[in-house]
Amino acid sequence: MKLPNYVKGQWSEGTSPGEALTDPVTGQELARISSQGINLAEALAFARTYGGPALRRLSYAQRAEILGKMADALVANRDEYFRISLLNLGANQADASFDVDGAIYTIKYYAKIGRALADGKMLKEGAAVSLSKSNAFAGQHLLMPAKGAAVFINAFNFPAWGLCEKAAPALLSGVPIVVKPASPTAWLTHRMVEDIVKADILPPGAISIICGSARDLLGHVREEDIVSFTGSADTAARIRSDDNILRRSVRVNIEADSINSAILGPDCAPDTDLFDLLGKEVVREMTLKAGQKCTTIRRIMVPRGQLKTFGDAVTAGLSPMKVGNPRNPEARVGPVVNKAQQTSCLEGLAKLKEECEVLFGGDKNFQPLDADVKESSFVQPALLSCKNGLDAKHVHDLEVFGPVATLVPYDDLEDLIALTRRGLGSLVASVFSNDPSFIRETILGIGDLHGRVLAVNSAVGAQHTGHGNVVPSCLHGGPGRAGGGEELAGLRALLLYHRRFVVQGPVDCITDLAGFCVNTASLYS
Ligand code: NAP
Repeated sequence: MKLPNYVKGQWSEGTSPGEALTDPVTGQELARISSQGINLAEALAFARTYGGPALRRLSYAQRAEILGKMADALVANRDEYFRISLLNLGANQADASFDVDGAIYTIKYYAKIGRALADGKMLKEGAAVSLSKSNAFAGQHLLMPAKGAAVFINAFNFPAWGLCEKAAPALLSGVPIVVKPASPTAWLTHRMVEDIVKADILPPGAISIICGSARDLLGHVREEDIVSFTGSADTAARIRSDDNILRRSVRVNIEADSINSAILGPDCAPDTDLFDLLGKEVVREMTLKAGQKCTTIRRIMVPRGQLKTFGDAVTAGLSPMKVGNPRNPEARVGPVVNKAQQTSCLEGLAKLKEECEVLFGGDKNFQPLDADVKESSFVQPALLSCKNGLDAKHVHDLEVFGPVATLVPYDDLEDLIALTRRGLGSLVASVFSNDPSFIRETILGIGDLHGRVLAVNSAVGAQHTGHGNVVPSCLHGGPGRAGGGEELAGLRALLLYHRRFVVQGPVDCITDLAGFCVNTASLYS
């Protein structure tokens, strides 16, 4: 089966034999993809010429209705997405739900909050400012939907959510989307796009998908386009420095990898609720999607005196978790996505072991449940301990994209902040403590290098949304190494797909324009 590309409102197969998508448990080929022979310049031009204007003829509220219909089309095919997730990602029910249900929830969320936007054509930012003594001449800042296309270059680990969390704000803004999913797991994104196209919800050119290599795609983006990239820091650096992107100042949003931290407060002794809660959270983070989440906890900072007991608690949580074929109900931890990722994880683990002690797992010769080690791509969860965190290098800068985490002891607040900041910019850090001043001082020490800080005390307990969970109402992204991008955060996500400009002119003209605008106060409510 070769998955066709959908560009210029038509399905077209790539001309080369293409790349194989495989089952990470059996190694079997499932489908092939190729973008060879597809004219990517024409694909973008079609999206800009037909998709964008058709979307922008609608109001925000009408486009929100479209999102609602997209969510319905996806819900109707949810079982198929779980089937594909099992085959192509080795995802069990929980892993697939995290991606697929997260995707559908995000689209529904934007449909709901988008309906509250009035029938405007632009966004109005603040009040008009007077620029003349008589007040006849004034300035008004406005945000206009970009008249280009939104190009999504996505990572392999969230083929469903990665599509929807970007598609929802772009389409709501009136910007057509061109998605290039990561090759190893393109099938699920492809199937979702196919279902949306079949449901005939969007105007021609509003949605396109390119499966396989991005080829010369970035060479054809223009000033009015937006490139939204999710993936590794290395690829991010290549995209950011692309000649055409630099020359045309194309807006680029980057969501890259991140060495996220979880912090156990000094007040959390063994057997306290928070000690147990964080222990469970670490186990969940390491095993859900086999640790293949950009937000997964990679480092756990613990008071030096708790290093052993906390390590024992996490080990006790990991020990009964069987790793293997997700078709076997006993298996709790699935594979990584393919042999290349397995090799990359094992190489990264070997580097971490140079400066860490192994507390649990990480055996490259372990036998997964119900799977052939030669064909499958499993990584045994590994908990490591790095006694001298300040002297370590890899622990703070090597993202092992699998079920691997490292305990790092700290001696005092200063030490903790210095260690956490060694991640050089992360998506998320969580702080578990009942000491308000410890939480406050930690946030003050690390907030500028994090996109999100999750604070948990006993009053919140298990009600917290989760270290690794990205909720559409709150910001996702992080500075520095995490890419510097910003996504979601409710309607704030629309800002990426709008251009700010100011009109300086007669007050009448400004009042007239304002009549076609939605006030941005609704973005921040
Ligand atoms: P990747 O290897 O960097 O690839 C990401 C995407 O970039 C893929 O679609 C890939 O296409 C494409 N690509 C590669 N080279 C390109 C080039 N020269 N020009 C244009 N596109 C190019 O990342 P990955 O292995 O798929 O994903 C795992 C990484 O993503 C992890 O590091 C993880 O932390 C990060 N991630 C971050 C977030 C976040 O929100 N911050 C979310 C999820 C994942 P091909 O697949 O065809 O090569």
